Amino acid sequence: MEKQAARADLMPIDLSGLRRGNTGIDYAHRFDSGRPGPEVLVAAVVHGNELCGVHALVRALATEPRPERGALTFCFCNVAAYLGFDPAAPARARFVDEDFNRLWDAETLDSPRRSSELDRARRIRPLIEQADQLLDLHSMQTGGEPLMLAGTAERGRELAIRVGFPRIVVADPGHAAGRRMRDFGGFGAAHGTRTALLAECGQHRDPAAADNATEVLARFLAATGTLRPEAARRICDWPERPAPRVIEVTDRVTIRGQSFRFVGNPENLDMIEKAGTVIGHDGGRPVETPYDNCVLIMPSRRLATGQTAVRLGRYVA
Ligand SMILES: [Zn+2]
Repeated sequence: MEKQAARADLMPIDLSGLRRGNTGIDYAHRFDSGRPGPEVLVAAVVHGNELCGVHALVRALATEPRPERGALTFCFCNVAAYLGFDPAAPARARFVDEDFNRLWDAETLDSPRRSSELDRARRIRPLIEQADQLLDLHSMQTGGEPLMLAGTAERGRELAIRVGFPRIVVADPGHAAGRRMRDFGGFGAAHGTRTALLAECGQHRDPAAADNATEVLARFLAATGTLRPEAARRICDWPERPAPRVIEVTDRVTIRGQSFRFVGNPENLDMIEKAGTVIGHDGGRPVETPYDNCVLIMPSRRLATGQTAVRLGRYVA
């Protein structure tokens, strides 16, 4: 039996008052310090059913954040999907036509193809392209500890450790099904200074995910020097946390067959002790762990051909 939730499920917030921003792009709000410095962008609802980032941005906006240097932009990304959120069928609000977070390469964005998500991605593309630092707030299908997905470059890992929460930092190369916003252009480059982090803040409907997203946001704005620490702490007066640990993703299990099933019901960050343990079956093919103490990262409940079933990694720090 599932435990009774102590707090009500997370619900959407009415964003109609935030539609008109000052960027010429709906649902995007930019605060310019008037001083030189980095362009910092925080993104929410890349997936329409992931409500935590909306709560975090709305809480932060209430404190009237004013950057110390450079500029700070808040963007509500896939609002069309978010507006369709139905508490009776929340997963359906993930997107309208396709996954917004698999479109982020120039070839796809420049193509003549259209969809609700591509139209919106093209609208906000200038914000993504001008950002020096990006924080993208997401939530997960399953519960458990939040994760910071930092990409494969060292600078992402360093920033994630400076932010200090989530405690688990995942160095990962993304998905075969398409490029994520956090890997777009300079963010995904092996060298350079543009840095993007994607925070998975908790289970989609868990109110704690909104609290976690707010803490990540406040810490990120302080760590990047966008806000003075006392201004960031008005958004969230974060507690001391243990130092982050890093998991390096080594393998991505992309579903090839017509059906995929896991052995048992694996949870995020489950560690499989012995190499060669069968964790699932892709069609008729067994999928085995490649080494001892292999960590399962975000095993998916959407087990369709071409999608990522799970990523595999190991602790490196
Ligand atoms: Zn997401």
